[in-house]
Amino acid sequence: MSYNRTPNRSVPCHNRTPYRSVPCHIMEPHIVSAIQHGSHGSPISAKLEGIFFSCNTEFNTGKPPQDSPYGRYRAEIPAEKLFNPNTNLYFGDLYCMYTAYHYVILVIAPAGSPGDEFCKQRLPQLSLNDNKFLTCSEEHGSLVFHHAQDVILEVIYTDPVDLSLGTVAEIIGHQLMSLSTANAKKDPSCKTCNISVGR
Ligand SMILES: [Zn+2]
Repeated sequence: MSYNRTPNRSVPCHNRTPYRSVPCHIMEPHIVSAIQHGSHGSPISAKLEGIFFSCNTEFNTGKPPQDSPYGRYRAEIPAEKLFNPNTNLYFGDLYCMYTAYHYVILVIAPAGSPGDEFCKQRLPQLSLNDNKFLTCSEEHGSLVFHHAQDVILEVIYTDPVDLSLGTVAEIIGHQLMSLSTANAKKDPSCKTCNISVGR
């Protein structure tokens, strides 16, 4: 997998200062469903409470895509409200979709929170400023965010999120079919992720 990382100031979105944000589709933490997300053997399935945020941005603008599979309304939260030096980052799950793309779920938990304790015991922790998926680093006194461009990236935030921290608006693009990992399996022959499925 190659990871072209485009400088982008938001966890998920935006190169421009006023728009450092991430789109989201559910605002109250809920049990991560094994049907909607996660294979049955995944440590995060049906056990971790969290809110899903999309982290993908348009390649040319660094903004969230105009189209969305998450419904007509989109909440955007400034990246630094959710992802900063006071949060911990964990690798949640990866799906090899039998196509050109991979789907990666990360978990962000405020340090010391119940979600953090849950993840610490079960998930691989990632360095905030040195991993292949999503980074937060400090440059010239402000936080800078990068994300991988060639995977479908979502994060689960484990605490409640106050919508007033961001904006809610109707998307200007098309509503796409929902992404589902329900039938996703890890392709044992995939040359890209080369994950061993085991027996
Ligand atoms: Zn793969």
